[in-house]
Amino acid sequence: MRSAIVIGAGIVGLAATKALAEKGYKVTVLERSGKAVGASIRNFGMVWPIGQPDGELYERAMRSKSIWQQVCMDANIWHDPVGSIHLAYDQDELNVLSELAEKYQHRGYTILSADKTKIKSPAANVNGLKGSLYSSTEIIVDPREALQKLPLWLTEKYKVQYIWGKAVTDVSYPSVYAGRDEFEADVIFVCSGADFQTLYPEIYADGHVTSCKLQMMRMEAQPANWRIGPAVCGGLSLMHYESFRAASSWQELRKRYERELPEYLKFGIHVMAAQNQFGEITIGDSHEYGATVDPFDKQFINDLILDYLDKLVRLKNPRIIESWNGVYAKLTNGDSELVISPEQGVTIINGLGGAGMTLSFGLCEQVVSLTGIPNSK
Ligand SMILES: Cc1cc2nc3c(=O)[nH]c(=O)nc-3n(C[C@H](O)[C@H](O)[C@H](O)COP(=O)(O)OP(=O)(O)OC[C@H]3O[C@@H](n4cnc5c(N)ncnc54)[C@H](O)[C@@H]3O)c2cc1C
Repeated sequence: MRSAIVIGAGIVGLAATKALAEKGYKVTVLERSGKAVGASIRNFGMVWPIGQPDGELYERAMRSKSIWQQVCMDANIWHDPVGSIHLAYDQDELNVLSELAEKYQHRGYTILSADKTKIKSPAANVNGLKGSLYSSTEIIVDPREALQKLPLWLTEKYKVQYIWGKAVTDVSYPSVYAGRDEFEADVIFVCSGADFQTLYPEIYADGHVTSCKLQMMRMEAQPANWRIGPAVCGGLSLMHYESFRAASSWQELRKRYERELPEYLKFGIHVMAAQNQFGEITIGDSHEYGATVDPFDKQFINDLILDYLDKLVRLKNPRIIESWNGVYAKLTNGDSELVISPEQGVTIINGLGGAGMTLSFGLCEQVVSLTGIPNSK
């Protein structure tokens, strides 16, 4: 039986582990922390095909979604196929949404009036609402639960060995070193997220990758099991995802935001809200780029997020119970992921930016099946 080592137990490492285990590899995962505490547990848990442009990325997102659904059922992980709704309070926002519904007819988006939006999205603020775009495709998982249960499920189903609290300090195929400990495998996958300094730093030194810090918050559980319906977004989210640029009216909207909401654009703020299985609402986010992440969260960013959210929704319990930041690796050359072999037998998978939950399962399945890794014998 051929062996594999995966470094990192974030969503990329989990997805690589699953793909390798399904090919018959005996997989050992080395994770620096006692549990995954990187970008993958700090996100919204949005599996978000709507943000991906047509073609390979949209297909990969849809494939990932179907893997998520299967895995969630098998591993008893909560998931909500609740879809997404983008709310428009100005005609130019509705113009973009209407164009997108037309352009992406094959995706089955629906433009809803304000009245119909309220039925679909009980949390939506209808005051001044011009309409919305509803998509049934997106699903929400709870990243904290998923990242904890997936290793247990992989261990039970495929006999994957997890070694927690073991920082890999060097790789020299076929060996992986963690201080004085040495491990060996036939194939090695490095899925170490936004740590660019420890493993293969020369790969990251070319300037094509940077860190992105995001600020997030969580609201207390809503009373009486009240559900907000689809994950809620506003017009600013139209600036954030590549797929929305397909609308010809996008540039006009961008220009208005540049005039009216410069602080939001400067800090990459767009506002989304997703509800978990406990009724809590996860809210974010902002985007600050740079090689070294500022450790201090900015209250004015959280205030800007909450001000904008107040325009979008009416919640029954808006009390904030948590705030945090997350950091992911983002490619600056426009690529959607970094898949590279720094030496024979070693593959780095990284740089999925803000779409790791959406794309990892599909990407890792492709990488493992297409990069010439033989089936284990
Ligand atoms: C706030 C926030 C919100 C987001 N929202 C979404 C969303 O809703 N939908 C979506 O699709 N994407 C979202 N993303 C993006 C997504 O979370 C990331 O793309 C994804 O988590 C990256 O996964 P990863 O496995 O590469 O990194 P990580 O989750 O950071 O995992 C890397 C792991 O490698 C380990 N590691 C690093 N170096 C070593 C070493 N030397 N030895 C051993 N272990 C090591 C780390 O400890 C860590 O556990 C969001 C990201 C953030 C931060």
